[in-house]
Amino acid sequence: MIYLDYQATTPVAPEVAQAMRPWAEEKFANPHSPSRWGAEAAAVIEVARDQVERAIGGDGGSVAFTGSATEALNWALKGTVERATPGRNRIITVATEHAAVLDTCEWLAGRGVDLTILPVRPDGLIDLSDLERELDERVLLVAVMLVNNEIGVIQPVAEIARMAHEAGALMLCDAVQGLGRVPIPPGPDLVAVSAHKIHGPKGIGALWMSNGADPAPLIHGGGQERGLRSGTLSPALCVGFGAAAKVALDRFEHDHEHVEELWIEAGSSLMTDWIINGSMTQRYHGNLNIYWPGVDAARLIADLRDIAFSLGSACASGSGRPSHVLRALGLSDRDARSCIRLGFGRYTTEDEIIGALNRIDAAARAQQDLAA
Ligand code: PLP
Repeated sequence: MIYLDYQATTPVAPEVAQAMRPWAEEKFANPHSPSRWGAEAAAVIEVARDQVERAIGGDGGSVAFTGSATEALNWALKGTVERATPGRNRIITVATEHAAVLDTCEWLAGRGVDLTILPVRPDGLIDLSDLERELDERVLLVAVMLVNNEIGVIQPVAEIARMAHEAGALMLCDAVQGLGRVPIPPGPDLVAVSAHKIHGPKGIGALWMSNGADPAPLIHGGGQERGLRSGTLSPALCVGFGAAAKVALDRFEHDHEHVEELWIEAGSSLMTDWIINGSMTQRYHGNLNIYWPGVDAARLIADLRDIAFSLGSACASGSGRPSHVLRALGLSDRDARSCIRLGFGRYTTEDEIIGALNRIDAAARAQQDLAA
């Protein structure tokens, strides 16, 4: 199988599997127990926390582990609303955010939060003058992702954070697709990340909080994670996340150059009939979201079972709804149904990307010939 779905999830790095093994096999202590074994587990969790904090690179601040980035985003949004000072009741977000942000914001809007969803331009980027117009002293939080999971465009997060702060608001950045792939810009007060997008295990995410920006807890109980997120931590998952973060940081330049080479190869193999979605200048090059008008993308996936790639967004697949991101770019439902997303990275080879693109192109061409 050729795996080209790096935005959905990434292969577990061998360094990660190796670091996790003792904690998955023989070391079972509760990291919150006072025994020597418990203390050992607690100590490796602190090493992992430090590794994740370094990979995020925030100035000061701290990380709390969560069960997923979805949980981290829910917590950041709901917990910030919970702590809001009177009069600050507005959230501004963007039409192309992940469902973990958009659906949580809609839920909050149903409970009295004043929600503004900014549109994007046809290149997938927000217009900063739209944000400027919306910012006022009632805004509590501005939530904008770094790298879009469907089309790979990179929003100007540092500038957005600066503008939010000028209005006295906080900024939340969903950096799930950015961590380890592009530098995380300084500025956000809250940053959500996920281990399985950086060659770590599934079932663990984290919320980085700048000093003083801690949201109110969402999950109550034993008071773990400084009383902010109760629940026994899994040493194996934390160690795996930490190892993945360390490798991502150590290999950052190497991974970046590799993805650039794959992007260039992909660009030269791509036939002229295909159109690339999203900005060509502000984008992460490990995401190739393309369409050939009239091609049935679902049929392409069915025809090429040994190549793993995605329709629009893997998170929304199965819903039957055309992607909200592609619609936000202005694509018709028909064109959105022609879109495929190829995601590649650390372990993808040039032969794989070229071979897959040639086969996808041939299958699309066969569909078009049949329709003609
Ligand atoms: N945000 C973005 C941009 C994502 O791509 C995803 C997962 O696809 C998430 C959030 C949710 O992450 P998790 O799988 O850790 O809940």
